[in-house]
Amino acid sequence: MGATRLTYLDHAATTPVRPEVAEALRPWLGPTFGNASSAHRFGRTARVAADEAKRALAAALGAEPNQVIFTSGGTEADNLAVVGAALAARERGDPFRVAVSAIEHKAVLEAAHWVTALGGETIVIPVTSSGLLDEAALDDALRRDLALVSVMWANNEVGVLQPVGRIAARCRAAGVAFHSDAVQAFGRVPVSLRETGLDLLSISGHKIGAPQGIGALIVRERRLVAPLQHGGGQQYGLRPGTENVPGIVALGRAAELAAAEGPALAVTLARLRDLLECRLRELLPDVVIHAEYSPRAPHIASFSVPGTESDVVLMQLDLAGVACSAGSACSSGTTEPSHVLAAMEVPEPLARAALRVSLGHDTTAADVAHLLEVLPGAVTRARALAAALQA
Ligand code: PLP
Repeated sequence: MGATRLTYLDHAATTPVRPEVAEALRPWLGPTFGNASSAHRFGRTARVAADEAKRALAAALGAEPNQVIFTSGGTEADNLAVVGAALAARERGDPFRVAVSAIEHKAVLEAAHWVTALGGETIVIPVTSSGLLDEAALDDALRRDLALVSVMWANNEVGVLQPVGRIAARCRAAGVAFHSDAVQAFGRVPVSLRETGLDLLSISGHKIGAPQGIGALIVRERRLVAPLQHGGGQQYGLRPGTENVPGIVALGRAAELAAAEGPALAVTLARLRDLLECRLRELLPDVVIHAEYSPRAPHIASFSVPGTESDVVLMQLDLAGVACSAGSACSSGTTEPSHVLAAMEVPEPLARAALRVSLGHDTTAADVAHLLEVLPGAVTRARALAAALQA
């Protein structure tokens, strides 16, 4: 028996470290080291490398280097933005109230719940059935005094792109700070702080070919956020702690690659995604493609095959060597019904069938073909199981 071909189509969960990034990182795992806060030559070497990476990241995001705060990833960046902005507002005597969209990643939603737990208030702004922010509800929220509005750039389950420039303009006119979680957008669509007028922007390294455990919050004006950690005063006191220089160097290199290759990659990914969806409709005529007619990031396809449960199909695909994920949020291994699909009013049985296929830098037409080859069989077995369980 030949070895099973392995196909990874879960790049929205994490994507492999790019070889160019590994090469930039390598000296920092061996001979080169230093605490970037030390005054001696080892420290200065680390500072120079971290500053260079910071410049590369800032350039890729249309920001200034002194607007970059490195974090341990997207989750920490989102928490610093949402809770940090709410705490800063409270300290200034401004309203301790934030508004977030209903389809945010848990990192934003749970951070907003923390604001509520600390005695503040959270307004959840609904989305339409296309997954786009309900802008009338945004205007209602902006009529209340707010510390922050947080609306993600690209959704991690269905890929929907929000009109962040327009939302930023509305927030600005209302005098409210605007944060966007661009973890899924960065590297796949153009992301620029300068061009969109955002105040706060989160990104994560492991979605663009850097290792897990490094990310950043871009902060237009530092007075907008209060720190959540307290310590040695590094990073303007907003994120104290010894800087993760290896991670920062890797993120800088990955950001350079994203800036250089992003536009061409977006075209390739969109072509592969369209091919996938077109063939899916032929093979499984009753398939429902979520947010099909909405503006979407090119790397995510989300769909449901009626009469199946996503975890059964995923297991079948895994046995056949194909890795993708459920449309529902999967945190620490437990699959709950997706709050994103619920907010888009996708009926529960379809939401339970949702699959997310996400493409990456090295995805090829052969990978998509592998999925399409094994999916109909997986669906047949999943339907048979569902029927047997009902009998
Ligand atoms: N925000 C979005 C949209 C994401 O997709 C993710 C990760 O899946 C995160 C935040 C969390 O990022 P990290 O895994 O770096 O903490």
